[in-house]
Amino acid sequence: MSPLKVHRSAALSLKAQTSATSRPTRLRFDSTTMTLSRLQDVPFDVRNRYYAVSLHYNADADQMVGGAEDSDPRSRTDKFKYSLSKKTRRMAFEKRVHRMKGDSVLASEARVRALDEGGISVRDPQSYINMLAAEGAILRSFYASAQYTTEKSRFDAGSPMADFARKVKRQYGPAAAAHAKTLVVIVGESMLQGRFARKLAILNTSNHLRFSQGQSITTALTDLGIDVVLVNDSHTASKCSLCHYSLRPCFLRAADGDAKRREFSITPRAGFEAIGQLRLCDSRQCKAHAAAQVHRNNEERDAEGAAPFHDLRIISVDVNAYVNRLVVWKSRHRPLFLCSNRRQRLKVKDMRNADIARGLLTERPLACLAF
Ligand SMILES: [Zn+2]
Repeated sequence: MSPLKVHRSAALSLKAQTSATSRPTRLRFDSTTMTLSRLQDVPFDVRNRYYAVSLHYNADADQMVGGAEDSDPRSRTDKFKYSLSKKTRRMAFEKRVHRMKGDSVLASEARVRALDEGGISVRDPQSYINMLAAEGAILRSFYASAQYTTEKSRFDAGSPMADFARKVKRQYGPAAAAHAKTLVVIVGESMLQGRFARKLAILNTSNHLRFSQGQSITTALTDLGIDVVLVNDSHTASKCSLCHYSLRPCFLRAADGDAKRREFSITPRAGFEAIGQLRLCDSRQCKAHAAAQVHRNNEERDAEGAAPFHDLRIISVDVNAYVNRLVVWKSRHRPLFLCSNRRQRLKVKDMRNADIARGLLTERPLACLAF
């Protein structure tokens, strides 16, 4: 049984519509029931009713990265980023609580720490108890306050998944509404099945937990009424979203010992460090693109801060994968550079030529590639 069928909110939107005559069964797309679908089940013609946001799950960092079809993948603020790790969540909670505390609470906590470290509790139990009682009054007024208890119960009751889904809705719901479209989230099939799951099964003894991470991500979204579409991941991480060539590994070193000025290489070199999260592209198109980018950046800076010239396009693995999934969503047939073999490429070519001959649109321009 495929994981899709096990999924509790899997409701494929296609409904068979048989006519009275013996014409072949025609599939009708019903957008009102779409929750979790495979890309091939969502006809190209209905996709422009949706505002697409593509998300990528980075298993190493345990975080979601993504962006909308019209957002700039190079922009830090445009990007969607959400950590699903418990540790990050607790740190964020503690940071919020710290901001709530007034000076008197912080000072009281510092005094309690000093008492503990000073070992007064053992040397002089009576004065320790007295001092603690005085500090207790201050601390109790904070930790019993409605502001703190609300934040605490929200932290205890909430789950990272639910918070993540709410953030997606909060961040992209208004944009989708502004376009008069329905929000749809594009994720990779590999998150739920196939190689990814198998790889984790080998790597990780708690693979069951990690595997269900993918499922709980989609469930959290569909529970909030957000449509999710699964896209085949073949080559989405390895082929450049801009020029379609194979991406190269990234090696870098700080130039002149300055961490902000870096030198890049596609091959290992002495003093260079391999960066797993980044890839380089050295195709002619991407070299021109990168050189122009470096030039622009340097124009904005003063002469002293100028970066050493390099003409390699630097791209994050996560960004490349989520942009490529948007490219797939925006194409009637799977783009040739993302096809897994020659047979598939030939098939796609034939279908595409036939569509062009019939005057059909085969792809829609993707705004996020224009940046
Ligand atoms: Zn490229």
